[in-house]
Amino acid sequence: MDIRRTQIAYRCPACAEATVGFLGGLTAAADMLRLKCSCGESALDITKRRGGGIHLSVPCVYCGENHGTDISEELVGRDALTALPCPFSGMDIAFIGSDEQIASAVTDSAAALGRIMTALEAEEISDIQPREGDADDTAIDPAVFDTINFIVRDLESEGQVKCPCGATRPALRYTDSGIQVYCESCGASRDITALTPTAAEEYLTLSEIILA
Ligand SMILES: [Zn+2]
Ligand SMILES: [Zn+2]
Ligand SMILES: [Zn+2]
Repeated sequence: MDIRRTQIAYRCPACAEATVGFLGGLTAAADMLRLKCSCGESALDITKRRGGGIHLSVPCVYCGENHGTDISEELVGRDALTALPCPFSGMDIAFIGSDEQIASAVTDSAAALGRIMTALEAEEISDIQPREGDADDTAIDPAVFDTINFIVRDLESEGQVKCPCGATRPALRYTDSGIQVYCESCGASRDITALTPTAAEEYLTLSEIILA
């Protein structure tokens, strides 16, 4: 794929609209690009990496925060769509690809977001994001998330994560008491109570997760 025609898209955490731009603005002269949402509340930053590839700082529509990630030159240059997941929810939050690939990815991501909003009975986009101000009170050690995520993905690979709707790839999010494993299709969930890494490790013995 010709990088000058390669597009990149993300969805704004403030207004939920998708913004699409070209990677072609990255040239020898400009090693940083900022793609701003038209609402002015968020921006995706793209920086050229010295060793090749790019670094992205992506506003996350599911977390309301930015996630940083490195993308290799091969991924940027390949012909297939590259989707970048939120490390917490597992949902795709940014896309790199051709104009057609981006257009369909943006449509699909709107549908995925819509399903989550419906499942959670959310009226505003901020309803699905961790509440501001809660961060200090409920700051859960990221190691808790990593451990639970490891357990869930491990069980998932063994087909031991079960949802009534038949979906097999749940998403995760922080709650006041730990992590919630939930289904993006139907909203079924299972709460995992774990405020410390030690508590999270207790769940290593889980042999299945059933969402309800
Ligand atoms: Zn916006
Ligand atoms: Zn996120
Ligand atoms: Zn489900």
